[in-house]
Amino acid sequence: MSNSYVLVINSGSSSLKFAIIDSVSGDAIVSGLGECFGLPEATISWKFNGEKTQEAIEAQGNHHQHAIKRLVTLIESLGFTNDIVAVGHRVVHGGEKFTSTVKIDNQVLTEIERLSDLAPLHNPAGAKGIEAAIEAFPNLPQFAVFDTAFHQTMPTKAFTAGIDKDLYTEYGIRRYGFHGTSHFYVSRQAAKILDIPVEKSGFITVHLGNGASVCAVQNGKSKDTSMGFTPLAGLMMGTRSGDIDPGILEFLMKKGWSQDQVFDMLNKKSGFLGVSHITSDARGILEAMEQGHEDAKLAFEVFTYRVAKYIASYLIPLTSLDAIVFTGGIGENSNIIREEILNNLSLLGFVVDSEGNDKARFGNEGIIARSELLGAVAMVVPTNEELVIARECVERL
Ligand code: AMP
Repeated sequence: MSNSYVLVINSGSSSLKFAIIDSVSGDAIVSGLGECFGLPEATISWKFNGEKTQEAIEAQGNHHQHAIKRLVTLIESLGFTNDIVAVGHRVVHGGEKFTSTVKIDNQVLTEIERLSDLAPLHNPAGAKGIEAAIEAFPNLPQFAVFDTAFHQTMPTKAFTAGIDKDLYTEYGIRRYGFHGTSHFYVSRQAAKILDIPVEKSGFITVHLGNGASVCAVQNGKSKDTSMGFTPLAGLMMGTRSGDIDPGILEFLMKKGWSQDQVFDMLNKKSGFLGVSHITSDARGILEAMEQGHEDAKLAFEVFTYRVAKYIASYLIPLTSLDAIVFTGGIGENSNIIREEILNNLSLLGFVVDSEGNDKARFGNEGIIARSELLGAVAMVVPTNEELVIARECVERL
């Protein structure tokens, strides 16, 4: 019997991540990355059987297409051609149109392109990857899995912005939320680990990576989330500001900043990088803090304080709480950041279990704190967005 492998593709504007996932075991058989697209030094690299290979990509033309063509020959040379049953694409924005995974046809592709209006940095790249993959794998069904879809269950009061309602009807301005695949996965895993039915569970899922967001998940459904109309909203992140007073934008523009300068600052020069002036990387912040760097310490404090404030406010959409669930590169690995966040939540009764917190790192799940007051725990669940994408595809074959 052949295997049930899914080729998972995540196309960015200058990169393309890919993985061949065994949808049964969840193992990544091959994982790789095409990067520096649009530049002469564009490369593609992959890991198979623990061995890493890197190659240059043809300098001219469409790099998404070149990378995906190389994937076809790679898959052939590894002997997996007959094992791959579908291609799953991560697509950032599904607007209000896509509330779950869909099989891609011309109409779906046109709609994803149309939604570029809402996600100009992401959806055009997603569409490029899909077009190239359809050309390269014409006989395989292809599916789009949207980052926004899981949050389409948010009630109107949670997604409505406190501005002129015509801006919603005219332009679709509202909270959409992102990281949906991750919040979906860790809420299901947390219910499994705690041995409670997901349809009777309450979680605050906290995805802390380069991008970061919090989600209130009641009975398996997203009720509110901290990213908004764009992924810029909510928590402070690696280079993104998260929420700021919109009055700051007007102030800076009146000082002569252009629109591009303001948004470049908010998206690429803020967060850990902006506050510390050293790095956008949490590990770098922790190292600098250990060496006594004052602004690294400030970045750590602003970040952890903000996350804790969000967690506390995400009790509001819930009717019960079983666990606060940490995930993402920072959430899965940094016992120090998690401890500081939980210390900020001591009024909610959370007491950190130091041993549990130290153990739940580098891919290990586990309980890291308990609150007698709320009858809830804090835990770590490593996320696996590729596996969700693979399973979503296989379920729809
Ligand atoms: P992600 O975007 O989910 O890949 O997460 C990337 C973030 O996770 C970066 O800020 C990394 O510095 C952070 N990270 C990864 N490993 C660790 C670690 N051991 N301790 C602290 N932060 C980490």
